[in-house]
Amino acid sequence: MIRVRFAPSPTGNLHIGSVRTALFNYLFARHHGGQFVLRIEDTDLERSRPEYTADILSGLDWLGLASDEPPVYQSSRRELHLEYVEKLLKEGRAYPDPEGSPAVFFRVPADGATVIPDLVKGGIVFQNKDFKDQVIRKSDGSVTYNFAVVLDDALMGITHIIRGEDHISNTPKQIFLYNALGFALPQFAHIPMILGTDRSKLSKRHGATSINEYKKDGFLPEAIVNYLALLGWTPPDGSELMNLTELCQKFDLDRVSKSNSIFDLEKLRWLNAQKLKNLSLEALQSLCPELNTEILKVIKDDLVLLTDAPEKAKIFTLHKIEYTDEQKAELKTASARQVFRELQEKIDSIYNGSIEEQYNKAQELIDSIVKNTGFKKGQVFHPLRVALTAQKSGPGLKFLLVLLGKEKVKERLQNALGC
Ligand code: GLU
Repeated sequence: MIRVRFAPSPTGNLHIGSVRTALFNYLFARHHGGQFVLRIEDTDLERSRPEYTADILSGLDWLGLASDEPPVYQSSRRELHLEYVEKLLKEGRAYPDPEGSPAVFFRVPADGATVIPDLVKGGIVFQNKDFKDQVIRKSDGSVTYNFAVVLDDALMGITHIIRGEDHISNTPKQIFLYNALGFALPQFAHIPMILGTDRSKLSKRHGATSINEYKKDGFLPEAIVNYLALLGWTPPDGSELMNLTELCQKFDLDRVSKSNSIFDLEKLRWLNAQKLKNLSLEALQSLCPELNTEILKVIKDDLVLLTDAPEKAKIFTLHKIEYTDEQKAELKTASARQVFRELQEKIDSIYNGSIEEQYNKAQELIDSIVKNTGFKKGQVFHPLRVALTAQKSGPGLKFLLVLLGKEKVKERLQNALGC
């Protein structure tokens, strides 16, 4: 049975790069009917914080990447780790610090080579002579990352270690320990890094890195998951728009790229807009409970971020709209005035019947104004839109007329005529 783990250190908020690592583990497990577990590596007592652990847990939950088992806290395994230090000491594979501190050193094989069985990079060969004996217990009595990670991965039955390639230099050291402890070697998959547009490692300088910031900015978890899956992996059928279930079906390590990927915010935004379009109206409504359903329906396809919704809905509810000088000039033309007057005269007639009937009547009214005036469509549509919204583009005019309601339409036409 395939068993993988995501092993974040809670020394910061859940980072977008870590989420990609978690996601690849999750997808690999699901694809093969295996298990995905979470281990919080909270052994650095100075830098670990419970609020970071909370952020990691809630972020994974939000993204739909929850662990199959309750998370394991590495700090709770301290006694176990220390027992294995004693074991290696007893077997002569490790020795105490010659200077008398509580530190313990592990004897690294003096010669030969170590090969990392890596499913992404192929076999990576290291010369053992390039490694010094390793500290496994520090002088403060705590065990080192490389030691704890090997013990935990082996004792938790982890079969595949999928993590960022920045860990490659640790892997031979970990392999020495697997061998010395008599544990079977797992498979490794070191996945490429995520870089900013300037090709340096993705960091704050490139914009938001914490998942919470993306959530606050109005990104959907579906978009983040879809986007991150494509950062360093391509599906066999080349599709771009996939939900988590489809990703689980398609993902495997053989199509993970060997080279680094560049984080492309525009592509993430594009995917977010697609996901918003594909959301059912009910789902969107539950994310924006304060907005009117009919308004949501009309603005839905124009959203890039969820946070655009209240912004775009505003034109329907604003008490007063302000025109720019340039807009005022457009509203003052004789043709615009004629359009506004015609609309003023007949507008009352559209507000009865079902909402669909009202939309139809509104459309007929607009069409009749085009016909009666003999103006080009643009000469009718454009000034009307400006008069009603003070904007260049937005929802169709029939929606504006109906959803603004009689009072607001009249008020705004009056405003426009007063320019
Ligand atoms: N806690 C380590 C990290 O966050 C885990 C590395 C690993 O996956 O082995 O970098």
